[in-house]
Amino acid sequence: MATLEKSTGLHDLLRPEAHPRSVPDNLAWAALTRHAHRRWQLALIWETRTGSVRTSTFFELERASNRVANALAQLGVGRGDRVFTLLGRTPALYTSLLGALKLGAVVGVLFSDFGPTAIQQRLADAGAKVLFAEATSAAKLLDARAGLPDLEHVIFVGKEASRAARELRAACDLGAWVLDELLAKQPPCFSPVPVARSEACFFVYTSGTTGPPKGVVHCHAIADQLAATAREVLALDESDLYWCTADPGWVTGLCYGIFAPWLLGCPIFVYEGEFAAERWLELLERHQITCWYTTPTTLRRLMNWAGRRSFAEQRDFALRRIYTVGEPLGPEVIAWAEEAFGVPVYDNYWQTETGAQVIANRPGLPVKRGSMGKAVAGAHVAVIDEQGNELPPNVVGDIAVRPTLSSLFKGYWHLPEATRACFRAGWYVTRDKGRRDEDGYFWFAARADDVITCEARKIGPCEVENALATHPAVAEAAVVGVPDPVTTERVKAFVVLRPDRQPTRELAVELAEHVEAQLSAVARPREVEFCAHLPRTNSGKVQRAKLRSATELQGRCFVLQ
Ligand code: AMP
Repeated sequence: MATLEKSTGLHDLLRPEAHPRSVPDNLAWAALTRHAHRRWQLALIWETRTGSVRTSTFFELERASNRVANALAQLGVGRGDRVFTLLGRTPALYTSLLGALKLGAVVGVLFSDFGPTAIQQRLADAGAKVLFAEATSAAKLLDARAGLPDLEHVIFVGKEASRAARELRAACDLGAWVLDELLAKQPPCFSPVPVARSEACFFVYTSGTTGPPKGVVHCHAIADQLAATAREVLALDESDLYWCTADPGWVTGLCYGIFAPWLLGCPIFVYEGEFAAERWLELLERHQITCWYTTPTTLRRLMNWAGRRSFAEQRDFALRRIYTVGEPLGPEVIAWAEEAFGVPVYDNYWQTETGAQVIANRPGLPVKRGSMGKAVAGAHVAVIDEQGNELPPNVVGDIAVRPTLSSLFKGYWHLPEATRACFRAGWYVTRDKGRRDEDGYFWFAARADDVITCEARKIGPCEVENALATHPAVAEAAVVGVPDPVTTERVKAFVVLRPDRQPTRELAVELAEHVEAQLSAVARPREVEFCAHLPRTNSGKVQRAKLRSATELQGRCFVLQ
């Protein structure tokens, strides 16, 4: 563990000897092993893009993930080592994560559409030792390889895994393996390693206004609040079939797409593909999903696709309730969705750092449309002023949570200053503005930072600016979010070109594609404005508020697809 940062105090979370151990505290034991003795209990229904369906019981996933744990142990992975995935939503993602957790390793999930820069930043920061990757990612890994000194092994998944492993082996000194071959030699038995509640279990990278993404560290203790909210808010039990549409690369897909339902023994549905209105409605109906956790963007897309018509009469849904998270859900969308699906729609609020839902609408609580609901059990939430005093009802301030919340993050990896900056007078401060009304309902107002919310995913302007700056035509770039009626915001880039370059639509498209290739599709600018200069403060800081209002620049703006 040479890479562990001593000054954060976080290295203790990964140091085995610092903790009293207990098997029930291992998240993988609680979410999987515990259910495996009931041989036929359904855990996962997985549908591919081409429509084939595979089901797995907890027992089957238990054995598959045991093989993963044994294979990782053979590669020298131990407690506290970081094991990441760069996989699509396939069963291999789930068994790899659970297998690594059983070993006491600390897991992290990368979106499979990440480009080399996004991959390299996160793996290098986390000091990842092993990566499970789609065979199709081999080229991206070769691009990122030079910046990954801690990475020792890549385990490839998919049809072309053998070829990808060969290529990687030929090009560098990494251990390159084929998952199926590695697992074939492993026994299906493994006892989850006893860990302590306070021991790290996963990293999730989150974007801020400045700097690269920060690694949010969570511990095995997170299981308590995930199980509690799965009961209190999602009202899940084993009779549900639950579909969380979020990718596990986003904290929602990790915590509520995998752990929360499995902690209650509730089967999950996973679809490998991306959003398509007709297909998703058909999936809800054919699989008889009872509980659906999605985003406001999804509902808005469905609303636009469907016009005013109701689906419920034409389709044989089994839905009982719908949940959304990640961006504001307006009353109009709730009204439409409740009418269209014939079931209640519950918005809720949390963030990567809180680890679990902290404010939620839920069954049994009257919904005030447009509000995020009330604080959940175990979360003391308030709206505070600059001194940390609770504000009176209906006054907008900072949404804050007492650190007694058992799922609260343990800190940002390597960043003690940034971690400390989140706390004020005994509160964890979310960087969201909002108000609480006289009945205790919370209303979202705005983010207090410049992070861009697009399709519920968060994009750090700085990451996009850095990616743009690597293009030879760019002298300077600044990035903001501008309002979008469907996706909440979209990325807009302001670019000052080098003297020899002309502001053309072709160049705007080229820049957008450059960002997408380096980072991800969601970070791709949808508007590029070429301007002569960027508005800056006397100290040289870009004035994003001026860019957002964009009244004085009058550059040439291209709206892209
Ligand atoms: P993340 O950490 O990526 O899950 O993003 C968390 C952020 O998403 C929060 O800090 C809010 O800015 C936003 N968010 C989450 N839930 C809601 C909601 N129900 N309404 C408005 N914004 C939300």
